[in-house]
Amino acid sequence: MEIENFIRDIQGFPKPGILFKDIAPLLNSPEATRECLRQLLQLVKNKHIDKVVGVESRGFFFGTLIAQKLNVGFVPVRKPGKLPFTTVSQLYDLEYGTDKVEMHIDAIQKGDRVLMHDDVLATGGTAEAVCKLIESQGGIVVQCNFIMTLDFLNGKDKLKGYDIASVLNY
Ligand code: AMP
Repeated sequence: MEIENFIRDIQGFPKPGILFKDIAPLLNSPEATRECLRQLLQLVKNKHIDKVVGVESRGFFFGTLIAQKLNVGFVPVRKPGKLPFTTVSQLYDLEYGTDKVEMHIDAIQKGDRVLMHDDVLATGGTAEAVCKLIESQGGIVVQCNFIMTLDFLNGKDKLKGYDIASVLNY
């Protein structure tokens, strides 16, 4: 089964010039979801993981599935103002202006070995901020793990020193 057959390209979403990689067809197929999960787990095999951090919102789907399979806790990282308990946050630069990612203050314990997961690695700004957030709480980023990497956007340059792993590369 080819996972890429379940990724739908949407030209011009959410704005002109962006080729959006839509994972809805993948989620809509239990067989493709199972195969994608198998391949994501293959990327982290033999690594000890204490927590899986998933990035809002499409990092939640496979992030929770990976955490269940590894029998560890899942931690949601969200956009500002969404989490109800006390949060810690990390600012990062966008093309114009800044944005923020947030996590609950009690989600990561010092020394936790963390797998960071999101659906797409694009410019790497989000993943870099999430890694900093994890580290600010004393967590160790064991791997940054994605369904797909858009290689032409050079997101890996922002994540130097981290183990980057992806099921698909474009
Ligand atoms: P970036 O910070 O540029 O690496 O962007 C990563 C975040 O934006 C991820 O949470 C992705 O879900 C989303 N994203 C960026 N580019 C795309 C794309 N072409 N298709 C789907 N999602 C994307």
